[in-house]
Amino acid sequence: MPESLSTDVLIVGGGVAGLWLNARLRRLGFATLLADKGALGGGQSVKSQGIIHGGTKYALSGALTGASEAIADMPRRWREALEGKGELDLSGVRLLSDAHYLWSPGTLAGNLTSFFASKAVRSRVGQVKGDELPPALQHPRFKGKVYRLSELVLDVPSLIARLAELAGDSLLACQQIEPLLDDNELVGLRVDGREIRAQRIVFSAGGGTAELLASLGLQQPAMQRRPLHMVIVKAPTLKPLYAHCLGGGTKPRITVTSHPTADGEWVWYLGGDLAEADGVARDEAAQIAVAKKELAELVPWIDLSSAQWATLRIDRAEPAQSALARPDNAFLAEQGRLLVGWPTKLALSPDFSDRVEAALARDGIRPGQHPALPELPRPPLTGPFWEGLLP
Ligand code: FAD
Repeated sequence: MPESLSTDVLIVGGGVAGLWLNARLRRLGFATLLADKGALGGGQSVKSQGIIHGGTKYALSGALTGASEAIADMPRRWREALEGKGELDLSGVRLLSDAHYLWSPGTLAGNLTSFFASKAVRSRVGQVKGDELPPALQHPRFKGKVYRLSELVLDVPSLIARLAELAGDSLLACQQIEPLLDDNELVGLRVDGREIRAQRIVFSAGGGTAELLASLGLQQPAMQRRPLHMVIVKAPTLKPLYAHCLGGGTKPRITVTSHPTADGEWVWYLGGDLAEADGVARDEAAQIAVAKKELAELVPWIDLSSAQWATLRIDRAEPAQSALARPDNAFLAEQGRLLVGWPTKLALSPDFSDRVEAALARDGIRPGQHPALPELPRPPLTGPFWEGLLP
Protein backbone atom coordinates (compact mmCIF):
# COMPACT_ATOMS: atom_id res chain seq x y z
CA MET A 1 0.00 0.00 0.00
CA PRO A 2 1.66 3.32 -1.04
CA GLU A 3 2.07 5.91 1.73
CA SER A 4 -0.60 8.59 2.16
CA LEU A 5 0.14 12.14 1.07
CA SER A 6 -1.19 15.55 1.95
CA THR A 7 -1.11 18.79 0.04
CA ASP A 8 -2.87 22.16 -0.12
CA VAL A 9 -4.37 21.84 -3.58
CA LEU A 10 -4.74 18.61 -5.53
CA ILE A 11 -5.30 19.25 -9.24
CA VAL A 12 -6.56 16.60 -11.64
CA GLY A 13 -5.78 17.28 -15.31
CA GLY A 14 -2.51 18.61 -16.73
CA GLY A 15 -3.57 20.49 -19.82
CA VAL A 16 -2.63 24.14 -19.98
CA ALA A 17 -5.36 25.09 -17.45
CA GLY A 18 -4.17 22.68 -14.73
CA LEU A 19 -0.48 23.28 -15.41
CA TRP A 20 -0.85 27.07 -15.36
CA LEU A 21 -2.85 26.91 -12.12
CA ASN A 22 -0.31 24.55 -10.59
CA ALA A 23 2.59 26.86 -11.44
CA ARG A 24 0.73 29.91 -10.11
CA LEU A 25 -0.16 28.22 -6.81
CA ARG A 26 3.40 26.99 -6.30
CA ARG A 27 4.66 30.51 -6.90
CA LEU A 28 2.24 31.71 -4.20
CA GLY A 29 3.76 29.20 -1.78
CA PHE A 30 1.04 26.52 -1.87
CA ALA A 31 1.91 22.83 -1.84
CA THR A 32 0.29 21.18 -4.84
CA LEU A 33 0.00 17.86 -6.61
CA LEU A 34 -1.18 17.52 -10.19
CA ALA A 35 -2.40 14.11 -11.34
CA ASP A 36 -2.82 13.23 -15.04
CA LYS A 37 -3.71 9.91 -16.58
CA GLY A 38 -2.31 10.71 -20.02
CA ALA A 39 0.45 12.87 -21.46
CA LEU A 40 0.68 16.43 -20.10
CA GLY A 41 -0.95 18.75 -22.63
CA GLY A 42 -2.02 15.78 -24.76
CA GLY A 43 -5.77 16.56 -24.60
CA GLN A 44 -7.15 19.63 -26.32
CA SER A 45 -4.17 21.84 -25.43
CA VAL A 46 -1.60 20.55 -27.91
CA LYS A 47 -4.31 20.20 -30.58
CA SER A 48 -5.35 23.82 -30.20
CA GLN A 49 -4.16 26.46 -32.65
CA GLY A 50 -2.22 28.22 -29.90
CA ILE A 51 -3.78 31.63 -30.54
CA ILE A 52 -3.82 33.94 -27.53
CA HIS A 53 -7.06 35.66 -28.46
CA GLY A 54 -7.93 39.12 -27.30
CA GLY A 55 -11.56 38.54 -28.28
CA THR A 56 -11.47 40.59 -31.49
CA LYS A 57 -13.06 37.84 -33.56
CA TYR A 58 -16.21 38.03 -31.42
CA ALA A 59 -16.80 41.45 -32.96
CA LEU A 60 -17.72 39.63 -36.17
CA SER A 61 -20.93 38.51 -34.46
CA GLY A 62 -21.34 41.74 -32.52
CA ALA A 63 -20.53 39.87 -29.31
CA LEU A 64 -17.50 41.94 -28.29
CA THR A 65 -18.98 43.60 -25.24
CA GLY A 66 -17.77 44.96 -21.94
CA ALA A 67 -18.11 41.44 -20.59
CA SER A 68 -15.35 40.37 -22.98
CA GLU A 69 -12.71 42.24 -21.08
CA ALA A 70 -11.29 39.15 -19.34
CA ILE A 71 -10.20 37.90 -22.74
CA ALA A 72 -9.16 41.36 -23.94
CA ASP A 73 -6.43 41.39 -21.29
CA MET A 74 -5.05 37.93 -22.10
CA PRO A 75 -2.51 38.92 -24.80
CA ARG A 76 -0.90 41.41 -22.38
CA ARG A 77 -0.71 38.87 -19.55
CA TRP A 78 0.77 36.17 -21.78
CA ARG A 79 3.19 38.63 -23.39
CA GLU A 80 4.52 39.65 -19.98
CA ALA A 81 4.89 36.00 -18.93
CA LEU A 82 6.77 35.23 -22.17
CA GLU A 83 9.12 38.11 -21.45
CA GLY A 84 9.78 36.59 -18.00
CA LYS A 85 8.24 39.62 -16.28
CA GLY A 86 4.73 38.39 -15.63
CA GLU A 87 2.80 36.22 -13.20
CA LEU A 88 4.78 33.19 -14.47
CA ASP A 89 8.20 33.03 -16.06
CA LEU A 90 7.56 31.60 -19.52
CA SER A 91 10.77 32.89 -21.07
CA GLY A 92 12.04 30.25 -23.47
CA VAL A 93 8.58 29.31 -24.73
CA ARG A 94 8.56 29.58 -28.52
CA LEU A 95 6.45 32.41 -29.89
CA LEU A 96 5.33 31.42 -33.39
CA SER A 97 3.91 34.83 -34.24
CA ASP A 98 3.57 38.07 -32.34
CA ALA A 99 0.41 38.86 -34.27
CA HIS A 100 -2.61 37.08 -35.63
CA TYR A 101 -4.25 38.55 -38.73
CA LEU A 102 -7.75 39.11 -40.10
CA TRP A 103 -7.78 38.45 -43.80
CA SER A 104 -10.65 39.52 -46.00
CA PRO A 105 -10.12 37.85 -49.36
CA GLY A 106 -12.71 39.72 -51.39
CA THR A 107 -15.25 42.47 -51.12
CA LEU A 108 -16.95 41.81 -47.83
CA ALA A 109 -17.68 45.42 -47.08
CA GLY A 110 -20.90 44.75 -45.16
CA ASN A 111 -19.26 42.29 -42.85
CA LEU A 112 -16.25 44.49 -42.19
CA THR A 113 -18.33 47.62 -41.75
CA SER A 114 -20.18 46.15 -38.80
CA PHE A 115 -16.89 44.75 -37.56
CA PHE A 116 -15.18 48.13 -37.57
CA ALA A 117 -18.26 49.78 -36.08
CA SER A 118 -17.01 48.49 -32.73
CA LYS A 119 -14.80 51.03 -30.98
CA ALA A 120 -13.11 48.22 -29.11
CA VAL A 121 -12.04 46.75 -32.46
CA ARG A 122 -10.82 49.99 -34.02
CA SER A 123 -8.37 50.46 -31.19
CA ARG A 124 -6.89 46.99 -31.63
CA VAL A 125 -6.67 46.51 -35.38
CA GLY A 126 -4.37 48.01 -38.01
CA GLN A 127 -4.29 47.33 -41.77
CA VAL A 128 -1.04 45.94 -43.23
CA LYS A 129 0.17 46.06 -46.84
CA GLY A 130 3.15 45.11 -49.02
CA ASP A 131 6.06 43.58 -47.16
CA GLU A 132 4.18 43.83 -43.85
CA LEU A 133 1.78 41.14 -45.10
CA PRO A 134 2.21 37.63 -43.70
CA PRO A 135 4.85 35.84 -45.87
CA ALA A 136 2.32 33.42 -47.42
CA LEU A 137 0.21 36.33 -48.73
CA GLN A 138 3.08 38.36 -50.21
CA HIS A 139 2.36 37.60 -53.85
CA PRO A 140 1.46 39.77 -56.85
CA ARG A 141 -1.78 37.80 -57.27
CA PHE A 142 -2.89 38.50 -53.71
CA LYS A 143 -6.03 40.64 -53.52
CA GLY A 144 -7.91 41.51 -50.39
CA LYS A 145 -7.26 43.23 -47.12
CA VAL A 146 -5.30 42.14 -44.08
CA TYR A 147 -5.51 43.58 -40.58
CA ARG A 148 -3.03 42.92 -37.81
CA LEU A 149 -4.53 41.91 -34.47
CA SER A 150 -2.65 42.37 -31.26
CA GLU A 151 -2.81 38.65 -30.49
CA LEU A 152 -0.06 36.05 -30.15
CA VAL A 153 0.40 32.52 -31.43
CA LEU A 154 2.38 30.10 -29.28
CA ASP A 155 4.11 26.82 -29.91
CA VAL A 156 2.07 24.75 -27.47
CA PRO A 157 4.53 21.82 -27.03
CA SER A 158 7.19 24.27 -25.77
CA LEU A 159 4.62 25.92 -23.49
CA ILE A 160 3.70 22.54 -21.97
CA ALA A 161 7.38 21.68 -21.47
CA ARG A 162 8.01 24.97 -19.61
CA LEU A 163 4.90 24.63 -17.42
CA ALA A 164 5.97 21.07 -16.57
CA GLU A 165 9.37 22.44 -15.53
CA LEU A 166 7.66 24.96 -13.26
CA ALA A 167 5.71 22.07 -11.71
CA GLY A 168 8.88 20.77 -10.02
CA ASP A 169 8.15 17.55 -8.11
CA SER A 170 4.37 18.05 -8.03
CA LEU A 171 3.45 15.87 -11.03
CA LEU A 172 1.87 12.46 -10.63
CA ALA A 173 1.01 9.94 -13.36
CA CYS A 174 -2.21 8.16 -12.46
CA GLN A 175 -4.72 5.67 -13.74
CA GLN A 176 -7.58 5.50 -11.31
CA ILE A 177 -9.13 8.23 -9.22
CA GLU A 178 -11.70 7.62 -6.48
CA PRO A 179 -13.17 9.89 -3.82
CA LEU A 180 -11.64 9.96 -0.34
CA LEU A 181 -14.41 10.63 2.17
CA ASP A 182 -14.49 11.40 5.91
CA ASP A 183 -18.02 11.24 7.35
CA ASN A 184 -19.41 11.51 3.83
CA GLU A 185 -17.43 14.68 3.15
CA LEU A 186 -14.91 14.79 0.32
CA VAL A 187 -11.47 15.37 1.92
CA GLY A 188 -9.21 14.25 -0.90
CA LEU A 189 -8.83 11.59 -3.55
CA ARG A 190 -7.59 8.04 -3.65
CA VAL A 191 -5.20 8.01 -6.60
CA ASP A 192 -4.26 4.48 -7.70
CA GLY A 193 -4.98 3.35 -4.15
CA ARG A 194 -2.89 6.12 -2.51
CA GLU A 195 -4.76 8.48 -0.18
CA ILE A 196 -4.12 12.14 -0.93
CA ARG A 197 -5.71 14.64 1.45
CA ALA A 198 -6.02 18.24 0.32
CA GLN A 199 -7.55 21.52 1.46
CA ARG A 200 -9.01 21.92 -2.02
CA ILE A 201 -9.38 19.64 -5.06
CA VAL A 202 -9.56 21.08 -8.57
CA PHE A 203 -10.82 19.17 -11.60
CA SER A 204 -9.35 20.67 -14.77
CA ALA A 205 -9.43 17.50 -16.85
CA GLY A 206 -10.98 18.94 -20.03
CA GLY A 207 -13.12 16.29 -21.72
CA GLY A 208 -12.35 13.87 -18.83
CA THR A 209 -14.08 16.04 -16.22
CA ALA A 210 -17.60 14.66 -16.75
CA GLU A 211 -16.31 11.14 -16.05
CA LEU A 212 -14.42 12.30 -12.96
CA LEU A 213 -17.55 13.98 -11.63
CA ALA A 214 -19.54 10.80 -12.30
CA SER A 215 -16.98 8.81 -10.27
CA LEU A 216 -17.89 11.09 -7.35
CA GLY A 217 -21.60 10.59 -8.01
CA LEU A 218 -21.95 14.17 -9.33
CA GLN A 219 -23.67 15.39 -12.48
CA GLN A 220 -23.03 19.09 -12.06
CA PRO A 221 -21.57 21.22 -13.48
CA ALA A 222 -22.74 19.77 -16.79
CA MET A 223 -20.23 19.57 -19.61
CA GLN A 224 -20.72 19.79 -23.35
CA ARG A 225 -18.52 18.59 -26.17
CA ARG A 226 -18.24 20.54 -29.41
CA PRO A 227 -16.80 18.31 -32.14
CA LEU A 228 -14.37 19.71 -34.71
CA HIS A 229 -12.82 18.19 -37.83
CA MET A 230 -9.52 19.99 -38.39
CA VAL A 231 -7.28 19.67 -41.47
CA ILE A 232 -3.49 19.43 -41.58
CA VAL A 233 -1.45 20.09 -44.72
CA LYS A 234 2.33 19.91 -45.11
CA ALA A 235 4.26 21.04 -48.18
CA PRO A 236 7.73 22.46 -48.87
CA THR A 237 6.00 25.46 -50.51
CA LEU A 238 4.15 26.56 -47.36
CA LYS A 239 5.27 29.71 -45.59
CA PRO A 240 4.00 30.80 -42.18
CA LEU A 241 0.49 32.22 -41.98
CA TYR A 242 -1.55 33.01 -38.87
CA ALA A 243 -4.92 34.38 -39.91
CA HIS A 244 -8.68 34.23 -39.69
CA CYS A 245 -9.86 34.29 -43.30
CA LEU A 246 -13.26 35.97 -43.33
CA GLY A 247 -16.25 34.58 -45.15
CA GLY A 248 -19.65 36.22 -45.21
CA GLY A 249 -20.72 34.89 -41.79
CA THR A 250 -20.02 35.57 -38.17
CA LYS A 251 -17.30 32.92 -37.95
CA PRO A 252 -14.03 32.86 -39.85
CA ARG A 253 -14.28 30.82 -43.08
CA ILE A 254 -10.91 29.26 -42.25
CA THR A 255 -8.49 29.91 -39.40
CA VAL A 256 -4.92 29.06 -40.42
CA THR A 257 -2.00 28.57 -38.05
CA SER A 258 1.44 27.30 -39.05
CA HIS A 259 3.58 24.91 -37.04
CA PRO A 260 7.20 23.85 -37.53
CA THR A 261 7.99 20.23 -38.38
CA ALA A 262 11.07 18.23 -37.44
CA ASP A 263 12.35 18.36 -41.06
CA GLY A 264 12.23 22.16 -41.24
CA GLU A 265 8.98 22.54 -43.20
CA TRP A 266 5.70 24.09 -42.10
CA VAL A 267 2.41 22.43 -41.41
CA TRP A 268 -0.74 24.48 -41.87
CA TYR A 269 -3.44 23.62 -39.35
CA LEU A 270 -6.87 24.63 -40.62
CA GLY A 271 -9.87 25.32 -38.41
CA GLY A 272 -12.67 27.87 -38.38
CA ASP A 273 -15.96 27.21 -40.15
CA LEU A 274 -14.28 24.50 -42.28
CA ALA A 275 -13.91 22.36 -39.14
CA GLU A 276 -17.37 22.98 -37.69
CA ALA A 277 -20.78 21.32 -38.33
CA ASP A 278 -20.57 20.59 -42.10
CA GLY A 279 -16.92 19.63 -41.73
CA VAL A 280 -17.73 17.29 -38.84
CA ALA A 281 -20.34 15.55 -41.01
CA ARG A 282 -17.79 14.89 -43.80
CA ASP A 283 -15.53 11.86 -43.85
CA GLU A 284 -11.76 12.42 -44.03
CA ALA A 285 -11.53 12.26 -47.84
CA ALA A 286 -14.43 14.70 -48.32
CA GLN A 287 -13.02 17.08 -45.70
CA ILE A 288 -9.62 17.08 -47.43
CA ALA A 289 -11.30 17.69 -50.80
CA VAL A 290 -13.09 20.76 -49.41
CA ALA A 291 -9.89 22.07 -47.83
CA LYS A 292 -8.01 21.65 -51.14
CA LYS A 293 -10.73 23.58 -52.94
CA GLU A 294 -10.70 26.37 -50.35
CA LEU A 295 -6.92 26.81 -50.54
CA ALA A 296 -6.98 26.69 -54.36
CA GLU A 297 -9.45 29.57 -54.25
CA LEU A 298 -7.79 31.58 -51.49
CA VAL A 299 -4.06 31.10 -52.19
CA PRO A 300 -3.91 29.85 -55.82
CA TRP A 301 -0.21 30.85 -56.11
CA ILE A 302 0.86 28.19 -53.59
CA ASP A 303 1.75 24.93 -55.30
CA LEU A 304 0.24 22.13 -53.23
CA SER A 305 0.75 19.35 -55.77
CA SER A 306 3.20 17.50 -53.49
CA ALA A 307 1.38 18.31 -50.23
CA GLN A 308 0.55 15.69 -47.61
CA TRP A 309 -2.91 15.94 -46.05
CA ALA A 310 -4.56 14.56 -42.92
CA THR A 311 -7.50 15.41 -40.69
CA LEU A 312 -7.98 15.36 -36.94
CA ARG A 313 -11.24 14.90 -35.08
CA ILE A 314 -11.19 16.53 -31.66
CA ASP A 315 -13.87 17.77 -29.28
CA ARG A 316 -13.78 21.04 -27.44
CA ALA A 317 -14.89 20.43 -23.84
CA GLU A 318 -16.80 23.29 -22.24
CA PRO A 319 -19.42 23.90 -19.57
CA ALA A 320 -22.90 23.23 -20.94
CA GLN A 321 -24.01 26.59 -22.29
CA SER A 322 -26.06 28.60 -19.87
CA ALA A 323 -26.29 32.19 -18.72
CA LEU A 324 -23.28 31.42 -16.52
CA ALA A 325 -21.02 30.37 -19.33
CA ARG A 326 -19.64 32.81 -21.87
CA PRO A 327 -16.99 31.90 -24.39
CA ASP A 328 -14.85 34.85 -23.32
CA ASN A 329 -14.46 33.87 -19.67
CA ALA A 330 -13.16 30.82 -17.90
CA PHE A 331 -15.75 28.83 -15.95
CA LEU A 332 -15.44 27.60 -12.36
CA ALA A 333 -18.06 25.92 -10.15
CA GLU A 334 -17.61 25.01 -6.48
CA GLN A 335 -19.05 22.31 -4.24
CA GLY A 336 -17.46 22.16 -0.79
CA ARG A 337 -13.76 21.40 -1.23
CA LEU A 338 -14.20 20.60 -4.90
CA LEU A 339 -13.62 23.21 -7.63
CA VAL A 340 -14.46 22.22 -11.19
CA GLY A 341 -13.94 24.15 -14.38
CA TRP A 342 -12.91 24.66 -17.96
CA PRO A 343 -10.87 27.60 -19.26
CA THR A 344 -13.01 27.38 -22.47
CA LYS A 345 -9.91 28.68 -24.30
CA LEU A 346 -6.25 28.00 -23.77
CA ALA A 347 -5.78 31.79 -23.78
CA LEU A 348 -8.06 32.02 -20.73
CA SER A 349 -5.97 29.76 -18.48
CA PRO A 350 -4.83 32.82 -16.46
CA ASP A 351 -8.51 33.74 -15.95
CA PHE A 352 -9.22 30.17 -14.79
CA SER A 353 -6.36 30.45 -12.32
CA ASP A 354 -7.61 33.86 -11.09
CA ARG A 355 -10.96 32.29 -10.28
CA VAL A 356 -9.40 29.44 -8.27
CA GLU A 357 -7.06 31.85 -6.46
CA ALA A 358 -10.01 34.11 -5.58
CA ALA A 359 -11.96 31.13 -4.18
CA LEU A 360 -8.97 30.09 -2.03
CA ALA A 361 -8.52 33.65 -0.73
CA ARG A 362 -12.23 34.01 0.01
CA ASP A 363 -12.21 30.77 2.04
CA GLY A 364 -9.04 31.71 3.92
CA ILE A 365 -7.06 28.79 2.46
CA ARG A 366 -3.35 29.38 3.06
CA PRO A 367 -0.21 27.34 2.43
CA GLY A 368 0.07 24.65 5.14
CA GLN A 369 2.85 22.36 6.40
CA HIS A 370 3.21 19.05 4.58
CA PRO A 371 5.79 16.24 4.70
CA ALA A 372 8.22 16.18 1.76
CA LEU A 373 6.92 14.22 -1.23
CA PRO A 374 8.39 10.82 -2.07
CA GLU A 375 9.53 10.25 -5.65
CA LEU A 376 6.35 9.96 -7.74
CA PRO A 377 5.75 8.50 -11.20
CA ARG A 378 5.73 11.47 -13.62
CA PRO A 379 3.32 11.72 -16.54
CA PRO A 380 5.04 12.00 -19.93
CA LEU A 381 5.04 15.24 -21.94
CA THR A 382 3.10 15.51 -25.15
CA GLY A 383 4.90 16.24 -28.44
CA PRO A 384 3.73 17.95 -31.63
CA PHE A 385 0.68 15.87 -32.60
CA TRP A 386 1.03 16.68 -36.31
CA GLU A 387 4.25 14.64 -36.55
CA GLY A 388 2.31 11.45 -35.85
CA LEU A 389 -0.53 12.17 -38.28
CA LEU A 390 1.38 12.67 -41.52
CA PRO A 391 2.98 9.79 -43.39
P1 FAD B 1 -6.99 19.68 -21.88
O1 FAD B 1 -5.88 20.30 -22.65
O2 FAD B 1 -7.95 18.84 -22.64
O3 FAD B 1 -6.29 18.82 -20.73
C1 FAD B 1 -6.99 17.92 -19.93
C2 FAD B 1 -6.00 17.00 -19.26
O4 FAD B 1 -6.72 16.20 -18.31
C3 FAD B 1 -5.31 16.03 -20.21
O5 FAD B 1 -3.90 16.09 -20.00
C4 FAD B 1 -5.87 14.66 -19.83
O6 FAD B 1 -4.90 13.61 -19.97
C5 FAD B 1 -6.25 14.85 -18.38
N1 FAD B 1 -7.34 13.98 -17.93
C6 FAD B 1 -8.51 13.75 -18.55
N2 FAD B 1 -9.26 12.89 -17.81
C7 FAD B 1 -8.53 12.59 -16.70
C8 FAD B 1 -8.76 11.74 -15.58
N3 FAD B 1 -9.89 11.05 -15.44
N4 FAD B 1 -7.79 11.65 -14.65
C9 FAD B 1 -6.62 12.34 -14.79
N5 FAD B 1 -6.36 13.15 -15.83
C10 FAD B 1 -7.30 13.27 -16.78
N6 FAD B 1 -8.01 27.97 -27.35
C11 FAD B 1 -7.30 29.12 -27.53
O7 FAD B 1 -7.21 29.92 -26.61
N7 FAD B 1 -6.70 29.40 -28.71
C12 FAD B 1 -6.78 28.57 -29.78
O8 FAD B 1 -6.21 28.84 -30.84
C13 FAD B 1 -7.54 27.38 -29.63
N8 FAD B 1 -7.66 26.52 -30.67
C14 FAD B 1 -8.32 25.35 -30.48
C15 FAD B 1 -8.37 24.44 -31.55
C16 FAD B 1 -8.98 23.21 -31.38
C17 FAD B 1 -9.03 22.25 -32.53
C18 FAD B 1 -9.52 22.86 -30.12
C19 FAD B 1 -10.14 21.51 -29.90
C20 FAD B 1 -9.49 23.76 -29.07
C21 FAD B 1 -8.89 25.01 -29.24
N9 FAD B 1 -8.82 25.93 -28.19
C22 FAD B 1 -8.14 27.10 -28.36
C23 FAD B 1 -9.39 25.62 -26.88
C24 FAD B 1 -8.30 25.07 -25.96
O9 FAD B 1 -7.57 24.06 -26.61
C25 FAD B 1 -8.90 24.52 -24.68
O10 FAD B 1 -9.81 25.42 -24.12
C26 FAD B 1 -7.78 24.28 -23.65
O11 FAD B 1 -6.65 23.66 -24.23
C27 FAD B 1 -8.34 23.42 -22.55
O12 FAD B 1 -7.29 23.14 -21.65
P2 FAD B 1 -7.53 22.16 -20.43
O13 FAD B 1 -6.26 22.16 -19.67
O14 FAD B 1 -8.78 22.53 -19.73
O15 FAD B 1 -7.86 20.74 -21.09
